Amino acid sequence: MSETTSAPASDAPVSVLGLGMMGSALASAFLKAGHPVTVWNRSPARTGPLVAQGALPAATVADAVAASPLVVLCLLTNDNVDELLTTLGDSAAGKTLVNLTNGTPEQARTLSARATALGARYVDGGIMAVPQMVATPAAYVFYSGDEEAYETHRPTLAALGGTKWTGKDAGLAALYDLGLLTGMYGMFNGVMQALALARTENIGAEEYAELLVPWIAAMLGGVPQIARDIDSGNHLTDVSSIAVSAAAFPNFIATFEAQGVSTELFEPLRALLDRAVEEGYAEDGMSRRVEMLIKK
Ligand code: NDP
Repeated sequence: MSETTSAPASDAPVSVLGLGMMGSALASAFLKAGHPVTVWNRSPARTGPLVAQGALPAATVADAVAASPLVVLCLLTNDNVDELLTTLGDSAAGKTLVNLTNGTPEQARTLSARATALGARYVDGGIMAVPQMVATPAAYVFYSGDEEAYETHRPTLAALGGTKWTGKDAGLAALYDLGLLTGMYGMFNGVMQALALARTENIGAEEYAELLVPWIAAMLGGVPQIARDIDSGNHLTDVSSIAVSAAAFPNFIATFEAQGVSTELFEPLRALLDRAVEEGYAEDGMSRRVEMLIKK
């Protein structure tokens, strides 16, 4: 994957379609970097704050697309993007559409084909930031699809944060994006369960979080070794075996039940550990569970 944080060419025009929390942050970042920005939103009132910052409002989607060679889309869903493409007519021909709406790899591939049929070049993207992080050093965006179009507009896109190219398959950016979000949601599942458990004994959430955060950070230090084990196919471990986890796991479930905490987030993990033992993987480590999660 190639990465860059090169400075934007500030005179390149860009249109932003969709001015929700994220789309507004994107448009604002382009404006701050000096780009001429045209904006459109389904509910026109949302253009107000951007116009106050110097953006030009477009009356129709087609007008917004016609205004710039680079068009960034950030709607709620890819169904909304799909619907919007049907209204573009000839305005999309020769344009680069960069779709930063959250979606699936398959949706990205379908939208890529649709945009190409309209004579446009399509780049899909996954934003690794919340709106407040956009244009800060911590923010970056995964991109995939039409590489030439991406390279042409990368200096402008760099106004949003780092740019990470993932490949010519338009679905790849969504895959990288959803993968990282999967890790995040899984981590937060554990955090919520731990805080719920502490709360049943009136242990303050803030007090417990002071223990939880460094603990999780220390455990994350083991991820590179798990990744090496997955890549090498050597699943035997001297750290913590499936047998040890499977033996301890009934204690978690029993404690949740005794304390009145739902087990719905953790039952699937117990089932996976039990299956691993049944299938003869008791001496393996966590990397084996990754293999088991992939449906043959
Ligand atoms: P918001 O709910 O704040 O905004 C949604 C936007 O989509 C609005 O501009 C809304 O227009 C528009 N929209 C909804 N339905 C339609 C439709 N049928 N036709 C045209 N426009 C429509 O969401 P966000 O801005 O937070 O999120 C936008 C995208 O960015 C999502 O895919 C999200 O997953 C992604 N994202 C968001 C992050 C975040 O932290 N917020 C982080 C990373 C990615 P209207 O104003 O008229 O309702």
